[in-house]
Amino acid sequence: SELVVSFGEMLIDFVPTVAGVSLAEAPAFVKAPGGAPANVAIAVARLGGAAAFVGKLGDDEFGRMLAAILRDNGVDDGGVVFDSGARTALAFVTLRADGEREFMFYRNPSADMLLTHAELNADLIKRAAVFHYGSISLISEPCRSAHLCAMEIAKEAGALLSYDPNLREALWPSREEARTQILSIWDQADIAKVSEVELEFLTGIDSVEDDVVMKLWRPTMKLLLVTLGDQGCKYYTRDFRGAVPSYKVQQVDTTGAGDAFVGALLRKIVQDPSSLQDQKKLESAIKFANACGAITATKKGAIPSLPTEVEVLKLMESA
Ligand code: ATP
Repeated sequence: SELVVSFGEMLIDFVPTVAGVSLAEAPAFVKAPGGAPANVAIAVARLGGAAAFVGKLGDDEFGRMLAAILRDNGVDDGGVVFDSGARTALAFVTLRADGEREFMFYRNPSADMLLTHAELNADLIKRAAVFHYGSISLISEPCRSAHLCAMEIAKEAGALLSYDPNLREALWPSREEARTQILSIWDQADIAKVSEVELEFLTGIDSVEDDVVMKLWRPTMKLLLVTLGDQGCKYYTRDFRGAVPSYKVQQVDTTGAGDAFVGALLRKIVQDPSSLQDQKKLESAIKFANACGAITATKKGAIPSLPTEVEVLKLMESA
């Protein structure tokens, strides 16, 4: 199977209609569907791959809208369930003029946090070649237990586990709790990806030198990645490591670039799992993922910017 199953939250970001304002200053907001795991599933489907999303939405206008977005983008929504008592999560997000991102979450609790293990579509999860997840679904029960259960079902069925923590500090009770919980499932990942910020958060060291990254390495891992924005990324396997520069693009909005990168890389890995053992193949998969992330950074929003395979190949050929 080449199926990528992505687990976690799908929500609506409300983003200001004008750039560079604080949440308080924003004159109006537009809906931008998101949630990193949902973005990854759509990234895979946009590239022509098989993808499914597992998670819970509110049984409301927004929840049904998000499920329709999954289907319209060719993502299997057979793992989506609806909560009649809780709303679909909302987040107001802005990039202020000073470059700081400001978040305000409406999750009290939101439907995504209420997924239970009994609601998991185990048959779907068992079909996964790769099972991908983040850490937001670890923040509170019952979703945390459902997340752990889903990982177990996937692993048992032979899937590779892929982890992008996607740190959102504001959602955790404390930094310490975030670090502990994010690392509590670190050892299970076959593939793990962190940004520079997450590397510093998890190791306590502000450096992307190999000896720092190696603090996150585990002997059971197949691939560890550190994304570096326009600088591309660094990769580590048991037998080899390296860095792959990205492509030069006009950056507009990096929202979703990390998810596009992950989606593209997972797409390549399910198409040829031997890429994990072959440095040339892995570098070529990472180039593809860098190009996919780069294109996503050239347009506003996450889902609308995710490229097709043809668009990715075009950027790679033109470089
Ligand atoms: P996110 O910002 O989505 O939470 P992230 O920090 O991992 O996640 P980035 O490092 O910004 O995401 O981007 C992921 C990948 O996309 C990078 O490793 C790079 O390959 C590509 N990319 C992102 N921004 C640019 C850019 N401005 N120019 C070229 N490539 C980019």
